[in-house]
Amino acid sequence: MTIKLYNTLSRKKEIIRPQKEDLITMYVCGPTVYSHPHIGNARAAIVPDILFRFLQTKYSQVIYIRNITDVDDKIIEAAEKENTSIDKITNKYTEIYKNNMSGLGILDPTYEPKVTEKIPNIINSIEKIIKNGNAYVSESHVLFNTKSYDSYGQLSRKKLDEMIDGARVDVASYKKYPGDFILWKPSIGDSPGWKSPWGKGRPGWHIECTSMVKDVLGDDTTLDIHGGGNDLIFPHHENEIAQGNCMSKKNYCNHWFHNGIVLVDKKKMSKSLGNVILVNNLLKKSNKNILRAALLSTHYRQPLNWTKKTLSNASGLIQRLSSSIEHEKQETLDSTALDEISDILSDDLNTPEAFRYLTGLAKHAKRNKNDRYALMQSSMLLGIDLNHTTEEPDITDELRDKIETLLTKRSKLRNSGQYDEADTVRQELSDLGVSIEDSSGKTTWKIDADK
Ligand SMILES: [Zn+2]
Repeated sequence: MTIKLYNTLSRKKEIIRPQKEDLITMYVCGPTVYSHPHIGNARAAIVPDILFRFLQTKYSQVIYIRNITDVDDKIIEAAEKENTSIDKITNKYTEIYKNNMSGLGILDPTYEPKVTEKIPNIINSIEKIIKNGNAYVSESHVLFNTKSYDSYGQLSRKKLDEMIDGARVDVASYKKYPGDFILWKPSIGDSPGWKSPWGKGRPGWHIECTSMVKDVLGDDTTLDIHGGGNDLIFPHHENEIAQGNCMSKKNYCNHWFHNGIVLVDKKKMSKSLGNVILVNNLLKKSNKNILRAALLSTHYRQPLNWTKKTLSNASGLIQRLSSSIEHEKQETLDSTALDEISDILSDDLNTPEAFRYLTGLAKHAKRNKNDRYALMQSSMLLGIDLNHTTEEPDITDELRDKIETLLTKRSKLRNSGQYDEADTVRQELSDLGVSIEDSSGKTTWKIDADK
């Protein structure tokens, strides 16, 4: 079977052709951890999640890398604003990000590197680019020399001089040319910084992604698929390509995959409009299945317009699907029942068509065992578990808030080694009818059915 995916580089749908027959590699730009994730962040994680799940049914090994940006100007500002340390900000929002994504049923990537843990690798990558003649040192900065790389602009299809004219490009004394971008910059005062051949400083944003790809896959390997929101095409991904291609003779990445923006009532989300929808709040009033259906109801390349009706429509859809199956336990994917949905997803990840197919199956599922089976299996491929919808606890926002407060309290106690006190909190949760489970650094909870 062939999988076709729109490639931003060629501006057409193309068959994915991995470098190795049975192994496919994918990188997606992850969060900058300084605030609560909103539905735009959720979309940028759930679209690759569908691709990741689908690729796993086709290839015996899928390597999926998603980074965590834990050093950035926005983080430093947030720490100042909340009057706390940078570590506390990044730890807090990394945990919230992970909890939110797991609340949406998004699978963990194979690798999830943090920038602050990869500084030596990033310095190493920058040194290679300098050595190859594509970067220069100036006033304690290292800059990528865009004029040295002829194909610059290939992804965004912009000409260098046009970009400079129209864009918000800083003209700075340390740049040879305004379009040159920062690979390394000095840290001033007590802002976070690391020792480097160019003085105390920290990496620019673009180099971290390229460096992490090369770190996991090796310099002389081409990445199969690179994803992200389409707001990252320029300059972030354009710069990633330039860096990657100047670090090694191998092409940096073959397939560029971008998801569209999320609008709220046809408007861009912004703090000033007060229309930012947070994943935390959605998880309080809805559940994983409904939220996944809502986020995947629009084709990934189109803008997703979130309205008052989005959740109720998705809830109606999930109800229609789940009411047509008997609650038979099925926990593993069975490829024989996935032929049709695989065909649909193979055509540029067509999730709206996938939901139309599921709705069609649901019409006959009560009477037809094969349809019922295909419905459950196909939903599972989309990360939707029809068995659990009607069992989803119908709990109040107040109880949910209480549970979350207790979980945070317990996690703080455990982190500071106060295990007896943490166990008391566990008992308090148990008294509320909540059981918890700690697994690979994460805590999940559920309402005990018999309480
Ligand atoms: Zn990136």
